[in-house]
Amino acid sequence: ITFADLGLADPLLRAIADAGYTAPTPIQAQAIPRVLAGGDLLAAAQTGTGKTAGFTLPILHMLLAKPLELRKPGRPRVLILTPTRELTAQVEESVKTYGIHTKISSMVIFGGVNINPQTSALRKPIDILVATPGRLLDHCQQRNVDLSGVEILVLDEADRMLDMGFIRDIRKILALLPRQRQNLLFSATFSDEIRELSKGVLTNASEVSV
Ligand code: AMP
Repeated sequence: ITFADLGLADPLLRAIADAGYTAPTPIQAQAIPRVLAGGDLLAAAQTGTGKTAGFTLPILHMLLAKPLELRKPGRPRVLILTPTRELTAQVEESVKTYGIHTKISSMVIFGGVNINPQTSALRKPIDILVATPGRLLDHCQQRNVDLSGVEILVLDEADRMLDMGFIRDIRKILALLPRQRQNLLFSATFSDEIRELSKGVLTNASEVSV
């Protein structure tokens, strides 16, 4: 199977070629068609499996395929939650790499740094917001971010987010999202807590595991 077989848009195929990838990894071959079909996804995948491209590529494809609504500042169409500053940076780097031939915009938000530069940066339209939960909530409370337009939610490394005590923040964020949306949950392990979280977040999810 090739990336072209998966039906990804041409600007994405060009970025994949730029990156030097010859074939999808197993998680990509399983996840990409399911995400493109619009369904919820529960994926068991460790770092190093190519999971980031597994959700980033189909998300970029879907943003390209749907007509760009009038974008509003601070109102993302895709929200990717991750446990750490480092992971927000890595995920956004992937978004930028695979989206290089598109006009899709992205931004990162994380705690432990001054909030003001982030607040200023949020005053422009963004398609994809990559964030850690606590700082995202601060921005929501200050009305710098409006989550009412989120079409796709990704919980990346969900097990680590639970280990780090983010469950209450995640639940508060979920309450701010539209009910009608696509949800993707990635976790290295499937504990009872992850199953519980999945039940609250996912609807008729397909499961993939590598
Ligand atoms: P991840 O598991 O998402 O952290 O990705 C691990 C590494 O695999 C990253 O450095 C990617 O650039 C690389 N990668 C992702 N997909 C592919 C692919 N299809 N072929 C070769 N390398 C890939």
